[in-house]
Amino acid sequence: MSQVVSEAELRACMCEIGRRMYARNFVAATDGNISVRIGTDRFLVTPSGSACGFMHPHEMVIADSKGMKVSGEGKVSSEFFTHLAVYSQRPEIEAVVHAHPPTTVAFTLAGCSMTDLALPEVVFAVGGIPTAPYATPGTREGAEAVRALAAKCDALLMDRHGALTMGSSLMDAYYKMEKIEHAAQTILIARSLGEIRTLTGDEMERILKARVAYGATGKLYLNGPR
Ligand SMILES: [Zn+2]
Repeated sequence: MSQVVSEAELRACMCEIGRRMYARNFVAATDGNISVRIGTDRFLVTPSGSACGFMHPHEMVIADSKGMKVSGEGKVSSEFFTHLAVYSQRPEIEAVVHAHPPTTVAFTLAGCSMTDLALPEVVFAVGGIPTAPYATPGTREGAEAVRALAAKCDALLMDRHGALTMGSSLMDAYYKMEKIEHAAQTILIARSLGEIRTLTGDEMERILKARVAYGATGKLYLNGPR
C-alpha cells in the first residue's frame, strides 16, 4: 500500500510501470499517464509529453487535487483531470493508470462491449469492463465522461481512446490494465473461433463467494452492457 511506501519508491515504481506499459505495447510515443496519492491533496503524476517507457524518477510532478502543479520541472499531464475524477469519486483509491492498449481500444472502435462476464479470473478482479462515453482526449470533457462510471468500477474503457484502471496501489492499478488487455486479446481470439460462453448464474455465485473468502477489495462491475 502506498501509505507505507516512500515517495522515492513510488517514483521508481511509476518508471517501472511506464517501462512495462511500453514494452507490452500498451502505449506508443508519449501516450499514457500514471498517478498516485502521496498525502492529503497531493499526488505524484507523470509529466506531460514524456515517453512512459523512458521516464526517470526525478521527472515526476507533484500536483494538488485541483490539477495545479505544486513542484517538479515538467507540466502536469493533461489527462490528470481524468485521474482526479476517479480520486474525487473514490477516496479509497490510491493510484490510477491510463494507457492505450490496442486490442482493448479496438473493441471500442468496433462498438463492442467488454461487459460480458466470461473469464472467471477477470470477473474476480474487476467484473465486467464498461465503456465511458467519447470525449476529446486530454480535455476536461474526458474527466466528466468517466466520473459517474468511476464510482462503480475499477477498470473502464474510454470510447475510441484508451483504458483507465485504479487500485489500492500502483501495482494493483497496473495489473488491472494488464488483465483487461489480456482479456480483450483472449475474447478476440475466442470470437474468431465462434460464440463465446459467458458464466452461468451458479458459476458467478461461486466466484462471488470465493471473492469474499479471499477478502478481495475493489469495485466489481456487474451492471450489464454499457
Ligand atoms: Zn490517452
